[in-house]
Amino acid sequence: MRIAVFPGSFDPITKGHVDIVERALPLFDKIIVAMGVNSEKRYFFDQSTRLNFLRATFQPYEKVEVDTYTQLTAFYCQEKGAGFLLRGLRNSIDFSYENTIANLNATIGDDLETVFLMADARYSCYSSTVVREIIKGGGDASIFLPASVAKLI
Ligand code: ADP
Repeated sequence: MRIAVFPGSFDPITKGHVDIVERALPLFDKIIVAMGVNSEKRYFFDQSTRLNFLRATFQPYEKVEVDTYTQLTAFYCQEKGAGFLLRGLRNSIDFSYENTIANLNATIGDDLETVFLMADARYSCYSSTVVREIIKGGGDASIFLPASVAKLI
């Protein structure tokens, strides 16, 4: 079984994240969208809200599972029997960061392979940060969000 973990904060999930998962579906038998839970990090949406957003988004997808994890991403992948990490790349800032993390995960994760998909041009400016800023400013961020999530916000 080719299992990939798509790890992230998803604070909140955007259409950009969904696009990466949809485009990765033909590559894997199963994709686990895994929300990292880091007690030292401050989030805008709390854990259960972010998880509900993920559940609402991916409920129609047979090959997609939603989960949370607290341990190192590489160790979580081992527990799940996942040989692949899935990440999206929007720009060179993403690249510099992801390059380091992918090497780290390959080292501690027993050849755990990170698969990168380039952000679709339509979504390359979408980020959870932009969505949070719009919501904080009292604006409507619906255009950035999966329809099922926009309904919940
Ligand atoms: P993290 O805190 O781990 O970066 P995020 O939820 O911000 O978590 O992002 C998870 C993954 O989704 C990252 O690989 C990120 O580059 C990717 N991503 C975020 N937004 C987009 C987008 N608009 N298009 C493609 N990939 C994206």
